[in-house]
Amino acid sequence: MSVSRGTADDDTRERVSRGIVTLITGCMFSGKTTELLRRISGADSCRVVVFKHVIDTRYSIDAVVSHGGKSCDALVVDGSSAMLPRTTDGVSLVGVDEAHFLDDGIVEVVDRLRRRGIDVVLTSLNCDSWGHSFSVVERLGQIADAWIVLTATCATCGDAADRTQRTTPIIDGNMVGGAESYEPRCTRCWSAPAVFA
Ligand SMILES: [Zn+2]
Repeated sequence: MSVSRGTADDDTRERVSRGIVTLITGCMFSGKTTELLRRISGADSCRVVVFKHVIDTRYSIDAVVSHGGKSCDALVVDGSSAMLPRTTDGVSLVGVDEAHFLDDGIVEVVDRLRRRGIDVVLTSLNCDSWGHSFSVVERLGQIADAWIVLTATCATCGDAADRTQRTTPIIDGNMVGGAESYEPRCTRCWSAPAVFA
């Protein structure tokens, strides 16, 4: 009978304290990116990497920008597999904006980052325009050490808003947009957009 004794790499990992994973979710205009930028601003910029998906070009191609206009430089990726090679030694904090754009592999990537002792802060929409949650976000919530839920102000009645209302027609399935196409609504004032074939 053999006994697994673990590798030197395992021993090294155990000596490195685990990183903290924080997930920030909410509807559009709930301040998710502002909160991400606030957390990044308190860290050494040389040790921070922020990722965004290439599909998200709303305010900038290579920066994370809040609806309020604050920003920081970001590395643009077309999938989660591009993140680990670009997280170099010395990085202590990884930010991910709009994680719902990423594939399921992001869950494994986040777990590997925190095993390296790297803190990870992710933002994500809580649900899509039809009120459906994102499976990848639910899985991220299961591994997160902290899950922060933000709300906006309902554009119709002023109550707390946790839904994103599509206000313009959806053309060719393109859902990426800003204030010209979306506004925050409470559950009572929100309605699902019509689907056009
Ligand atoms: Zn309302």
